[in-house]
Amino acid sequence: MSDQVLRGSCLCKAVKYEVRLPFIRFAHCYCSRCRKATGTVRSTNIAVAPDQFRWISGEELISRYDLPEARSFSTAICTRCNCPVPRPTRNREQVIVPSGSLDDVPPTGPSAHRQWGSRVSWAAIDESHLPCSE
Ligand SMILES: [Zn+2]
Ligand SMILES: [Zn+2]
Repeated sequence: MSDQVLRGSCLCKAVKYEVRLPFIRFAHCYCSRCRKATGTVRSTNIAVAPDQFRWISGEELISRYDLPEARSFSTAICTRCNCPVPRPTRNREQVIVPSGSLDDVPPTGPSAHRQWGSRVSWAAIDESHLPCSE
């Protein structure tokens, strides 16, 4: 299981990658930067070591933004479909993979809620009371 490979891609499928288990981290983050970067209440990102990650296609289409006032916060998108895509951390020690860009299903889900104290008031862990539709 530890050498399982998961495939991922952007919305337009131009950017494709593979990531190999195990993950260093798989967590939700509720900080204000993640809210802006994702456009929603939290990010859910996976961190892996660089040797666990490889591009399949589309790397040349990626635009990266390093937030100037941050120590390490960055975003990256496919410039064709503007979809978040994986990016190495600035120190190159990890690759951050947006979990929603995975096409394969990871064997386990997120293990933590990070920056919970920074959440917006309507952020909720348990949303099972909401009606579900197909
Ligand atoms: Zn794309
Ligand atoms: Zn965050």
